[in-house]
Amino acid sequence: MKPTLQQLGLIRKRMEAAKSREGSLYAKKFADIDPASVKTAEDFQNLPFTEKEELREGYPLGIQAVPDEQIVRIHSSSGTTGTPIIIPYTKRDVEDWAALFARCYEMAGITEKDRIQITPGYGLWTAGIGFQLGCEKLGAMAIPMGPGNTDKQIRMMIDLKSTVLCATSSYALLLAEEIAKRGVGDKVCLQKGVIGSERWGDKMRSRIAKELGVELYDIYGLTEIYGPGIGINCEADGPMHYWDDFIYLEIIDPHTGKTVPDGEIGEIVITTLRKEGAPLIRYRTHDLSRIVPEPCACGSPFPRIDRIIGRSDDMVKVKGVNIYPGQVEDVLRAIDGVSSEYQVMIDHLEGKDIMTLFFEMNEGFEKKEVEKAVAVEFKTKVGLKIVPKGVAIGELPRSEKKTNRIFDNRY
Ligand code: ZN
Repeated sequence: MKPTLQQLGLIRKRMEAAKSREGSLYAKKFADIDPASVKTAEDFQNLPFTEKEELREGYPLGIQAVPDEQIVRIHSSSGTTGTPIIIPYTKRDVEDWAALFARCYEMAGITEKDRIQITPGYGLWTAGIGFQLGCEKLGAMAIPMGPGNTDKQIRMMIDLKSTVLCATSSYALLLAEEIAKRGVGDKVCLQKGVIGSERWGDKMRSRIAKELGVELYDIYGLTEIYGPGIGINCEADGPMHYWDDFIYLEIIDPHTGKTVPDGEIGEIVITTLRKEGAPLIRYRTHDLSRIVPEPCACGSPFPRIDRIIGRSDDMVKVKGVNIYPGQVEDVLRAIDGVSSEYQVMIDHLEGKDIMTLFFEMNEGFEKKEVEKAVAVEFKTKVGLKIVPKGVAIGELPRSEKKTNRIFDNRY
């Protein structure tokens, strides 16, 4: 989806503002770029990307684009992998974020009559406070719990008759299990769950929905771009609408950096159109998704992206085809006799790339038949010929940490 003339106008304004503060990240990055020269989609696509690493290098406030007196708040990414990223907000940014978030709640059919139990953390992290801002802007009742203390969560949920639960998928599942364990499901009034959009499986989704008796909504966002609240799905399980009057979103091939045609999977790159404290131009999110080009049945004019299907860092290219873990999981899930563990090996032999897919098999299935089914399914769904290798349960390595499942031995 190319930027509209109106979006290009906003982008030029943001670029001008972003480079105006002496010594800031964009003052250096755009030193030789005249924002007025960005007139077409092609001009825009020639602008350099902004990488997470650059924001880290600018620690603490290198990204700040306005004078100190205009900054009213900062938030920070968790920083589990080194230096945190600090994002400064102006008063206008905070108000815009609240408006975006309220729009998300509305898209999910939530109204001022609802009671919203907010379990993500408050503080430096953008989550809890974003859910709160949006709730107050909408006019619903916020129950600002923060995470943990399951006894109190369930008590408040029952006594205050919470109708909406905001949570991470893992915490929603934990609450669902605790409610089932205590046999108090019939006292819970929840109708909707708004879940932070990390990648989470369909199995988990249906368990949470069933146990809590709720419709689930995926909310999208990242600390660098306001926080959660820049997109949400309009009906349970559908793709997410995003707010293209506040962000311009493009999908690129993470290997070549080129914009991919609408409908193709790639990495989400976001440009903020109105953000003052920390404008971002072509920011690489490393989240994988695709634009859903068809208009939505709900009638909303806002464009859509699919649910996040993984991270671009996990994506590899074999014979010109992009492969990522979520896709392999989708193929394997569709085949009887295949268990959940798998491993991908990519080798370069005799001038050719070869992808071998190892997967664990349940007992009682014919190995040759299952392997053939996997190869056919992979070719149909992904468009790549692979070497399938079924192994017994327990043969593939497991690790406590996030297991690396794709091994690229070509380089
Ligand atoms: Zn819709």
